[in-house]
Amino acid sequence: MSSIREDAIAVVASMPPGREEDIRPVGEITGSFGSDVFSIETMQTLLSAQTFKKLTKSIHDGIALDPGIANEVAAAMKEWAVSKGATHYTHWFQPLTGATAEKHEAFVEPDKTGHVILKFSGKNLIVGEADASSFPSGGLRSTFEARGYTAWDPTSPAFLRRNRDTVTLCIPTAFCSYTGEALDKKTPLLRSIQALSRSVTRLMKAFGLYDPKTRCRVSLGAEQEYFLIDRHFYYARPDLIQCGRTLFGATPPKHQQLEDHYYGAIRPRILAFMADVDRQLWRLGIPAKTRHNEAAPAQFEIAPLFEELNLAVDHNMIIMEVLRLTAEEHGLVCLLHEKPFAGVNGSGKHNNWSVEYGNINLLNPGNDPHQNALFLTTLCSVIRAVDKHADLLRVATASSGNDHRLGACEAPPAVISIFLGEQLTEIIEQIEAGSTKKSTRRGGILNVGVDCLPPLPMDATDRNRTSPFAFTGNKFEFRAPGSSQSCASANIVLNTIVSESIDKMAEAIEKFDQEADFNTQLQTLLQKTIKAHKRVIFNGNGYDQSWLDEAERRGLPNLKNTPEAMAQFKKPENIALFEKAGVYSKAEVCSRYEIYMEEYERKIRIEAELALLLTRTVIMPAASMELRNLFQTIKDAGSIKVALRSLTKTATTIASLLDAIDDKAEVLEDLIGKKDSVGMVGAMQALRKEVDDLERIVADSSWPLPKYRELLFIY
Ligand code: ADP
Ligand code: MG
Repeated sequence: MSSIREDAIAVVASMPPGREEDIRPVGEITGSFGSDVFSIETMQTLLSAQTFKKLTKSIHDGIALDPGIANEVAAAMKEWAVSKGATHYTHWFQPLTGATAEKHEAFVEPDKTGHVILKFSGKNLIVGEADASSFPSGGLRSTFEARGYTAWDPTSPAFLRRNRDTVTLCIPTAFCSYTGEALDKKTPLLRSIQALSRSVTRLMKAFGLYDPKTRCRVSLGAEQEYFLIDRHFYYARPDLIQCGRTLFGATPPKHQQLEDHYYGAIRPRILAFMADVDRQLWRLGIPAKTRHNEAAPAQFEIAPLFEELNLAVDHNMIIMEVLRLTAEEHGLVCLLHEKPFAGVNGSGKHNNWSVEYGNINLLNPGNDPHQNALFLTTLCSVIRAVDKHADLLRVATASSGNDHRLGACEAPPAVISIFLGEQLTEIIEQIEAGSTKKSTRRGGILNVGVDCLPPLPMDATDRNRTSPFAFTGNKFEFRAPGSSQSCASANIVLNTIVSESIDKMAEAIEKFDQEADFNTQLQTLLQKTIKAHKRVIFNGNGYDQSWLDEAERRGLPNLKNTPEAMAQFKKPENIALFEKAGVYSKAEVCSRYEIYMEEYERKIRIEAELALLLTRTVIMPAASMELRNLFQTIKDAGSIKVALRSLTKTATTIASLLDAIDDKAEVLEDLIGKKDSVGMVGAMQALRKEVDDLERIVADSSWPLPKYRELLFIY
């Protein structure tokens, strides 16, 4: 067997089986939860009452920190961090690369006596000046004016990152250009939350439910899927190292068809990893809740409890980082790519989203008819938003990695539709038909056609895994986002489009005839909305080809790949939508278009070049060695007049596969020259098919790359 594979298998096989002791004790959970967060409680103990009051006010109102208190807050933050072993601080931000960025500064500063003091001023806390020239800006910042600014977002608390012996104070920040344009994902996210809050407040006013003290809160619970493989196999797969996904690899006879991995007993080695991850997340105040085996072999999921959206997005970025770094400590590699392995499930990030006003969840059908009217209005707003702006939801999830997942056989399709479940669909149909029940006003309570919504048990609402956008009891679950993507993009779009819809509804309600019955008018409004947008509702199997045909008849967009999707982003009506909501300026939309398209093209090109390189320098040589052995054996047999019919057949097959591979490689090379990204994706697919066929016939001992049955099963 190829020594590299043999060695990897031997090392993994000789690892002592995981023992109970590998699972380090979690320790006291309640006491350590959030102990690495500069929390409200910590602030309260370390700050003067007056400063604490001012700070919490800016946190709650989402406004910038009063510079007058910055020095005191910074001093307290430094004292706290240093007492926990921190030597450095960093502004922690989310540039448009998809990752987080940090530049560490030591607290240490020399004093006049030749000694050092530990310093961290209010100015250090509030703004940082980052040389932004190497971050993508899509033309927002000319290179001669490379300065970018990071500004503290006090709504997301500072936290400590521990790595072996080093402790770093991380300050979540927004990242802007010198002229104030957002160079990151946090700024537009915060703006979109504001836009949605404004619209919800307007709707509340229209419903007569407005209360100046009540706040709107958007929530997110992000489920994170990932793969773990042993690092020995990883190092033997240049495609995983360079692209995060396998460019070749035949599907093994057994993969996920027995459905024996999903929710299966977690192996000790993996459980030790998961326990380690949970412990770190809890210290960071991240409410990691659920962990389990996912559908594909070697695939897993982690989900925290839902939190305020901005915080939840930051926390998801931290979760991805902790998963990656902790895997290394356990001799594993965590793959966050959307489709590391062909033929088995890819990884997504289910985005559970809801909106609250005070303690009312607008997506919760209550028993109270008043709340039901609000619920149905919100529901219809979401239906309208998703139908009108399905293109933007697709844009928000577009990436070279996610293209392999959306539209494949197991992920939600690239066509965006809404799953409501049977009961809710029935209610919607009743409203559309114009309920036979008279709308009534009992005891001043509104009643929208349906007397009372039946309680919708969460379990009954959704077991449809094929829908990209599903109502799940009291929230919507957007399943199209990819596992490696920041949740920010999806939620920026979701907030913006729902905000626009709610605004439209509120506007219509404001125009109701005060003399006429509110309820009848609301019913008519909902009825009209449903009639206009019900085409986006689909409760069937989203993987079925028949749905794609049906979706086409309904006129729903099917944006198959990133360039097709991204083209929608720059449409004038979409730019106008973002501008009106104050989420993106035209320049900010255009810059993101440039950046994401460039990223797409670069990633595809890297894959294509590596596919070509592996084909010519690893795969074809392995096949030709194999052929030489075969030819020698056939020749030797011939010398004693034995005709080796079977080996001749094998040799002929390998020879013709080699020719086919060479042809396909040339096509790919040609497309690389032409910079045809979409063409390259197709050509890589075609090349892969031949190589995978070759893998199925070449002697196992001659095959140079670890196979799927090893990558996915030996760990
Ligand atoms: P499933 O795998 O069945 O979709 P999980 O329990 O794995 O469900 O994840 C559901 C996610 O939705 C969790 O993060 C949970 O906290 C979150 N969630 C529950 N209620 C809400 C809500 N009202 N708003 C937003 N997220 C919610
Ligand atoms: Mg889910």
